[in-house]
Amino acid sequence: MTAAPTIVWFRRDLRLADNPALEAAVRGGGPVIALYVLDETPGLRAPGAASLWWLDKSLAALAASLEALGSRLVLRRGPAADIVRALAAETGAAAVTWNALLDPGYPERDTGLAQALKDAGVEARRFNGGHLVNLDAVRTKTGGPFSVFTPFWRTARQMVSDAGALAPPAALPAPAAWPASERLADWGLHPSAPDWSKGFGDWRPGEAGAHEALDRFVEAGLRTYSTDRDRPAVEGTSRLSPHLHFGEISPKACWRAALAAAHHGQAPEGEVEKFLAELGWRDFNAAITHTRAAAGADLAQASFNAAFDPFPWRDDPAGFEAWTRGATGYPIVDAGMRQLWTTGWMHNRVRMIVASFLTKHLLVDWRRGEQWFWDTLADADHASNAGGWQWVAGSGADASPYFRIFNPVTQSEKFDPPGDYIRRWIPELARLPAKAIHAPWTATPRELATAGVWLGRDYPNPIVDHAFARQRALDAYAALRAAA
Ligand code: FAD
Repeated sequence: MTAAPTIVWFRRDLRLADNPALEAAVRGGGPVIALYVLDETPGLRAPGAASLWWLDKSLAALAASLEALGSRLVLRRGPAADIVRALAAETGAAAVTWNALLDPGYPERDTGLAQALKDAGVEARRFNGGHLVNLDAVRTKTGGPFSVFTPFWRTARQMVSDAGALAPPAALPAPAAWPASERLADWGLHPSAPDWSKGFGDWRPGEAGAHEALDRFVEAGLRTYSTDRDRPAVEGTSRLSPHLHFGEISPKACWRAALAAAHHGQAPEGEVEKFLAELGWRDFNAAITHTRAAAGADLAQASFNAAFDPFPWRDDPAGFEAWTRGATGYPIVDAGMRQLWTTGWMHNRVRMIVASFLTKHLLVDWRRGEQWFWDTLADADHASNAGGWQWVAGSGADASPYFRIFNPVTQSEKFDPPGDYIRRWIPELARLPAKAIHAPWTATPRELATAGVWLGRDYPNPIVDHAFARQRALDAYAALRAAA
């Protein structure tokens, strides 16, 4: 008699290496059934369009890797708990393994599923495969959660284990009969009519692409990370975010590779620590989002700092639309929004600038920006996106102070001095000299004529004056504080 199979339920851990849930399934010794569910559970946030583009390719890559091991990826669509229970019953599975997800709604749903499986005589085993440490165990001295990054990281950093990576399985025993699978192509995750993803071509979703990105970064970017990470025209960051979001690579693999580079003299320790701290921000955002969700608040909706709730956001449909289209008249803002639309990714420094522009120059509610990013970012991540937006808006945990209102022109001059990033994303301004490209309205008529730019026709005038907008934002914050 053949042993009962174990189902490994892939979620945002689309990899074979360093995957605790997969490793546990293989260690069980019986046949392994790999499952992915396109989850349609009511109340769980559905991925945005750019994420679905990525998921499509990542699932194809995972399926190909499994096939190379003599296995398959079974695809099903629907409310995931129902599907997992039904597949366990259909295949007579002895166990289901998965890696935990901490976004709002997931832990409760998964606990309910684990109980239902147990009631049906099926073992349910959950693992931490998505974070550097078990975030529930990162606690202050008094046993509470952290709400400030630095002490969080001081504690969490010490807790990261030195254990080596879990090797990918050499083979996966197949079940006696394969359960039916839906076809990936039928899910329609790739956009059509229109296909807006032509600019996504530089990405290589999947585990191999993730490791390539890590290798490239450790080889070329890590040693100058702390300064180059702020220069949007330079490839100074890892671009691992969508790979990490979908779990095509474990954060521990990135951690180990960076530490090894420091140890072997490939990158200075200070640069490596800066990179590790950014992985720490990913965990910090996940931790605060998870803690608040357990208390009933979704940080993509609710201010971390409740004192911000009565903030007088403006309804500005025309301003919001100009922002989404990259037509605000501020080149660094517009370049970022066009990079996002075209490639599904935006440089971190520019994310901060565009988020500051929307929430402070236009006084548009950060939730609208969060939702736009959710739909257009390939790395859209519930916790990091909400955390990033609330940090910039000033309502978040350990947030940027309310009076920090980025001046888009000085930010641009400081972080993109020659204007190369702007030239790349706003070709209509490419021929302006560096001293004018950050603020084209300051160029002389002659400079504009030479560059072939007619302001208001080829490129918009600023939709709002910086000095006016800055004062309006400060007044709004002052009114909020006075009311508190
Ligand atoms: P690197 O600099 O190479 O960093 C390595 C990894 O560390 C990243 O891949 C990411 O996983 C993590 N990381 C780096 N910076 C941050 C940060 N500030 N917060 C959390 N994690 C970080 N990141 C997302 O992954 N998804 C989002 O939806 C997201 N939305 C954001 C929205 C706003 C308004 C802001 C200001 C930031 C947002 N970030 C988000 C954080 C950050 O911008 C991206 O993680 C980073 O730009 C990804 O590029 P990279 O992989 O080259 O980063």
